[in-house]
Amino acid sequence: MVRGANHTLMAATFCPSLPQHFKPTPIIKFHKSSFSFKVFSSQSSKADEVPTRVGFLGLGIMGSPMAQNLIKAGCDVTVWNRTKSKCDPLIDLGAKYKPSPAEVAASCDVTFAMLADPESAMVVACGEDGAASGMSPGKGYVDVSTVDGPTSKLINGQITETGALFLEAPVSGSKKPAEDGQLIFLTAGDKSLYEKVAPYLDIMGKSRFYLGDVGNGAAMKLVVNMIMGSMMTSFAEGLLLSEKVGLDPSVVVEVISQGAISAPMFSLKGPAMVQSKYPTAFPLKHQQKDMRLALGLAESVSQSTPIAAAANELYKVAKSHGLSDSDFSAVIEALKVKLKD
Ligand code: NAP
Repeated sequence: MVRGANHTLMAATFCPSLPQHFKPTPIIKFHKSSFSFKVFSSQSSKADEVPTRVGFLGLGIMGSPMAQNLIKAGCDVTVWNRTKSKCDPLIDLGAKYKPSPAEVAASCDVTFAMLADPESAMVVACGEDGAASGMSPGKGYVDVSTVDGPTSKLINGQITETGALFLEAPVSGSKKPAEDGQLIFLTAGDKSLYEKVAPYLDIMGKSRFYLGDVGNGAAMKLVVNMIMGSMMTSFAEGLLLSEKVGLDPSVVVEVISQGAISAPMFSLKGPAMVQSKYPTAFPLKHQQKDMRLALGLAESVSQSTPIAAAANELYKVAKSHGLSDSDFSAVIEALKVKLKD
């Protein structure tokens, strides 16, 4: 269990500086560095304040290191993954195992889920032997997968029907930030659950935002990833253009890194992209999923997003060339294919 949760709450701050029309819902942000806490696996003076038994469903690129950080911090963690073998390293670290999401949820106070997409998030939460079957009053379900708002609302409905609480909390940050406990949580939904799980979010992340109603966390995540996906395709075009006109693309990466358009993503991915290497941190299939969902979000409010729409086409081309499981930076290959055609 966790001590320091109340300090967490007191440290949360509202953002009064934005004009009202830019913040239709409450935004609370919190940075890890402003307080410290300690997790204990056994006793606490107020046992009902903080959930003690933590479930984790979905142990892919992101879920595994996130669950690992909870275990290393001393939390009582129970894991499940569709492919059971991915549970084994966590079991070796001290995690318990249950053979279905329902059994994890039934045996835990709060259950986190990190699934691939809307379909898998739905089936794990609401399908046969899904987490909802194990939920009851007093429990909480925190979905940290990247899904669209409508999916999140459906899951919210199924979970809260059992009397349990729901929080959506997609993350910004990739494999390395997940390993380092440096993710950014974009949460929305039940405020009391947000407060209860804050100490766990702070183990896995460096900051967290509370954005109000269910759907706002999903929307925030999709907006951020839509921008990221478009940035990557533009970067890829620039690297290839530079090469075609006789420049060294490695120097382009260096020049960008020193100027106003520098971004950690360019410096991180650029050198490997120049060598046509795409070690997977964020699978291209998930980036394309996020572009698709972001375009759906834009469609729902009749917002024009021509840049994202064009970028999405490139991710689709890359997928059709077998690059789904490569890093999303492999989208540059789609442009090479296009240029050859
Ligand atoms: P991943 O490595 O592909 O893992 C996906 C997880 O979903 C695995 O545990 C997988 O189980 C499970 N899954 C897929 N289909 C399923 C189904 N039908 N039923 C049950 N489980 C299913 O993906 P990831 O990179 O960890 O990403 C997970 C989520 O976080 C995605 O929504 C992604 O968009 C988001 N995200 C990723 C990053 C990143 O940089 N990687 C960053 C931020 C957010 P198996 O092991 O059995 O396949």
